[in-house]
Amino acid sequence: MWSLKRAVTHLWLSSQSAARVGRIHTPHGVMDTPGFVPVATSGTVKGCDNLRLMEAGSQLIFCNTYHFLVHPGPKVVEDAGGLHKFINYKTGPIITDSGGFQIFSMSARKITNELKGKIPSKYECEIQTHRYLFDESNSASLISLNEKGATFRSYYDGELITLTPESSVMAQKQLGSDIIIPLDILPSIDNQDMMATFHRTHRWQERSLQTHKADPRGQAMYSVIHGGMDISLRNKSMDTLFEMPFDGHAVGGSIGSNRTESFDLLKAIMPRLTSTHKPVHLLGVGDTQSIGSMIGFGIDTFDSSYPTKIARTGRLLSEGGTIDISRSEFKSSHDEPIDRTCGCVACKNHSRAFLHHLNRMSELSFYTLATAHNVWKMNDYMRSLREKITRNEL
Ligand SMILES: [Zn+2]
Repeated sequence: MWSLKRAVTHLWLSSQSAARVGRIHTPHGVMDTPGFVPVATSGTVKGCDNLRLMEAGSQLIFCNTYHFLVHPGPKVVEDAGGLHKFINYKTGPIITDSGGFQIFSMSARKITNELKGKIPSKYECEIQTHRYLFDESNSASLISLNEKGATFRSYYDGELITLTPESSVMAQKQLGSDIIIPLDILPSIDNQDMMATFHRTHRWQERSLQTHKADPRGQAMYSVIHGGMDISLRNKSMDTLFEMPFDGHAVGGSIGSNRTESFDLLKAIMPRLTSTHKPVHLLGVGDTQSIGSMIGFGIDTFDSSYPTKIARTGRLLSEGGTIDISRSEFKSSHDEPIDRTCGCVACKNHSRAFLHHLNRMSELSFYTLATAHNVWKMNDYMRSLREKITRNEL
């Protein structure tokens, strides 16, 4: 039976840090690590088709089970022959999340000073770097949360959907992804509920693993390490999840409100994670500055919609830093591509002036070209980091 434990190879360990270069082998191809994983929410990165994504050098991509549950339903994808065939991404591996993150994040509102205490909410939690509360008037609202699972209202057609650890795994089996993420709960920041949700998320992951192991289908499953910014809770989470035969580990939940806090948290927990010799994925981080500062801890893969989100707003990655192509200064940059070192479809064929024009006119092709560019640059950035690690410069 294929498993990531046997299929991950760490080819080079830096002498300067815990950074490592490796390869994750899956039934649908190889992922070079450390690598960037673009978020293809409903089977495509917004504004960019999958052929362009592959041309930009992407290997592993991240799809959201929640969105496939809402439409067209995992059965339709299964009937098509699985996600790889359905979205025509046959040459690379796919990781799918459980749907848990969206159940919480899509029914939540970021807590701002203006909102504090003004909206009735049953539940507050931290997601990545912000605090959220559940706004019960939201169309994608969380309806109930108990030991069995979570019930939420579809933002697409208002239908009530119940997701349990078992049904999330079965949906991901129907999708046929290479790496499955088990259903987890973002622990409440309410002190009374925090420990209850912390323990529940581990029970849910155990149930998920049992469901997966009963019918592995050549897929792998990562755990999701929780505990927020509390190092002792993070250690407890690792104590519990390391006892279970997961194929890799993902770091989930809150990782602090700024880069320094994230750095301190990873410094404390990463030595134990890398000692498992299994792949380590950091959920939801994808800006070059954070990746550059965190790579030394030995993280293998990072996923984030950040680089593709900023592309759609006109912010394009380049050698000299991010440029805002909407600025008037690019109106007549006829002889200059976005970035001379970039091999993407936008840089090979178009000038900054034309992209500036497409952006100002809100032409749809702008989103495709800008997104393909930022993904190419992210993949190139990861390639340069891998080279630095093998030269022991990181
Ligand atoms: Zn480019």
